[in-house]
Amino acid sequence: MTAFKAWVVEKGEGGQSLAFEDFDEAGLMDGDVTVRVTHSGLNYKDGLAMTGRMPVVRRFPMIPGIDFCGVVETSDDPAWKPGDTVVLTGWGVGETHLGGFAERARVKGDWLVPLPDGLSPAQAMAIGTAGYTAMLSVIALEKHGLTPQSGPAVVTGASGGVGSVAVSLLKRGGWHVIAATGRDGEADYLNGLGAAEILDRAELSGDPKPLAKERWAAGIDAVGSKTLANLLAMAKAGGAIAACGNAGGMDLPSSVAPFILRGVSLIGINSVTTPQKPRREAWARLAEELDLDALAAMTRTISLKDVGGLGETILAGQTRGRTVVEIG
Ligand code: NDP
Repeated sequence: MTAFKAWVVEKGEGGQSLAFEDFDEAGLMDGDVTVRVTHSGLNYKDGLAMTGRMPVVRRFPMIPGIDFCGVVETSDDPAWKPGDTVVLTGWGVGETHLGGFAERARVKGDWLVPLPDGLSPAQAMAIGTAGYTAMLSVIALEKHGLTPQSGPAVVTGASGGVGSVAVSLLKRGGWHVIAATGRDGEADYLNGLGAAEILDRAELSGDPKPLAKERWAAGIDAVGSKTLANLLAMAKAGGAIAACGNAGGMDLPSSVAPFILRGVSLIGINSVTTPQKPRREAWARLAEELDLDALAAMTRTISLKDVGGLGETILAGQTRGRTVVEIG
């Protein structure tokens, strides 16, 4: 048997378990491209998958890890050849298809994008699903017609992965960025990424009124629930909030008031199945626009054997920025 190191989620009578083990290459799922994974990244959904807190894993055994970067070893897809460096985010990898917390992965060639010019594999995974989702959110707000002249932009879950990249991208785009965080000690960090104002997230977690004082034209929300409802209630007329996360809950206790009385829009962001064209456009913009010093400042690097211990940590909102998993 040819085996490689991987984190593996199993389901038994006692529930889900997670172990770092040798995985038989014959157990890889169908796909036309086999990749030697060099880097992955830790995302909130990986915390859910590794702990079983929410049923994101739909197939057992499962290798978690919703994104990876690596080098093509073999390919039956003419778009890819051995030696190409590729990036994968989403498509159910780490949920329904074996994922990136492993030395090998086999996936559909259609799911891959080339490593964007100007980024190293480690930088691509420092961005990862979280950063790519932040970029999709910025693009969605721009498509709505919003500009820095429209008013401030608020980012929730600002010290997390999506939030940190969103703060940095918005700052780079010229926005006045309001970073909402629950962590007292992260003001300097967020100011360093480009936040002009820090907002205590407690101000957004109370029971939302249908409408409140107008505070921002745009928002990127990683939290959901009452926080998203408050963002909507405090949005300026004609503003928009890009909803991309649920770190605070899946519910949305809002009303139609922001929509019908202020013309506010709620824009949904789903990074998992974004088609190739907008996917590649988002990566190209990340490579061009994201401040790589800021990216370095928000990133820490760990080894594959250590990622299994971080599931609870990310769900508890205790990881800062992005965590790159160095594999080989
Ligand atoms: P992180 O854990 O890195 O960031 C989440 C941040 O949210 C935390 O750092 C914390 O920020 C804040 N937070 C955590 N718990 C709560 C809470 N109970 N109430 C309020 N705020 C809270 O996760 P990611 O950045 O990787 O992901 C963020 C969210 O976006 C997740 O829900 C994830 O599933 C979702 N997501 C969605 C995608 C899509 O395609 N739509 C793609 C990628 C992510 P602070 O301490 O600063 O307040």
